[in-house]
Amino acid sequence: AYTAEIIGVGTELLLGNIANTDAQDVSRALSEIGVNVYFHTVVGDNPERLKQAVAIARARADIIITTGGLGPTCDDLTKQTLAEAFGKKLIFNEDEAEQIRAFFKTRLHNMELTENNYQQAYLPEDCTIFHNGCGTAPGCAFESGGTHVLMLPGPPRECRAMLESCALPYLKKLSDAEIHSHNIHIFGLGESAVEARLRDMMLALENPTLAPYAKDSEVLLRVTARARSKEEAESMMAPVLEKVRAVLGDIIYGIDTETLENTAVGLLKEKNKTLSCAESCTGGLLAKRLTDIPGASRVFPGSITTYATETKTAILGVDAGLIREKGVASREVAEQMALQVREKFGSDLGVGITGIAGPDSDDSGLAPGTVFVALATPDGLWCRSLALPFDRARVRTAASSHALDMIRR
Ligand code: ATP
Ligand code: MG
Repeated sequence: AYTAEIIGVGTELLLGNIANTDAQDVSRALSEIGVNVYFHTVVGDNPERLKQAVAIARARADIIITTGGLGPTCDDLTKQTLAEAFGKKLIFNEDEAEQIRAFFKTRLHNMELTENNYQQAYLPEDCTIFHNGCGTAPGCAFESGGTHVLMLPGPPRECRAMLESCALPYLKKLSDAEIHSHNIHIFGLGESAVEARLRDMMLALENPTLAPYAKDSEVLLRVTARARSKEEAESMMAPVLEKVRAVLGDIIYGIDTETLENTAVGLLKEKNKTLSCAESCTGGLLAKRLTDIPGASRVFPGSITTYATETKTAILGVDAGLIREKGVASREVAEQMALQVREKFGSDLGVGITGIAGPDSDDSGLAPGTVFVALATPDGLWCRSLALPFDRARVRTAASSHALDMIRR
């Protein structure tokens, strides 16, 4: 597989005035097409240091992608510097000059065109021109001594647009290989824990590759293969999928599925079961996530949000003595909530969630992030007691995710 280095050009990046989101966008796109990004480099608007960065990059990457410094001002020196570093002349391109004239005439309402603006019409000899649909500065790509150099504009909107319409098609054409991938969805283990269990395998694999991505309170593992056909890619990925399954077991909730709620609702439909829930600290979030799925009414009759202690007793029928004895955030109360709501709705399954979303503790002295999630089924009663070390929003999301994870099992 090709390796790439991204060089962000701009003093404002070094000063910390802006975040290097262009590198993020380019990296994400390259990982999708199976190009391995090994380095992100940032240099200021300084030709000497840019030249140094390019010399280092060309020794360790097949593809160099620069962002920024393509514009008409005197600190925009990426094209000149890269052309010089690779021994290419800059050549005046009449088509580009015409486009710049047209842009000034129509989009900028006859704004005065200075000599500077024509600087953008100079492009390295034998390059592929990347037209800029959102601005004036064109990007470009050339090959020299086995290194591919691509230059993209700095403004994020322009960078993303040119990446999609020009740079990715250019890179895809470099090899006739096809890229195929599978997403393994995991809940119940953090990204670093997943990585720890699979580290040796990840390091050993080159094609296919295996890489983790954190996503809310979940982890996504992506297996990507580069091959001549889909069939070949599938046969390369199959043993990797099998090994990952063997290592991670049932914390994998799906492969190429969408979300936990999709999986949970899909399973309930398949088994023809109904589910109701009683929520306290999640305030209806579980119900919201279930009803995000079209057709959930077949399996989800409804829910009750019993946020205050009084409503847990008055409306849901949780035993007031139990609450006094065990505390409102307790395993016992979560279990009773699950049992009561199941009975009230006459559903097959019932979920009860109670806990402390934070940021502050309540009178009980329990730490914020202490949450109990109970599931009542005809076969029994389960409860997870969780210590979620997150802020309020993530505690609520994670608690509802745990409920969905219990439902799918
Ligand atoms: P222009 O034609 O606008 O001058 P340019 O290609 O010369 O574009 P720069 O002058 O380097 O690009 O940057 C223009 C603006 O784009 C910067 O002020 C900054 O806001 C943004 N920008 C530049 N580089 C990045 C980056 N790596 N990540 C995010 N934003 C960036
Ligand atoms: Mg500029």
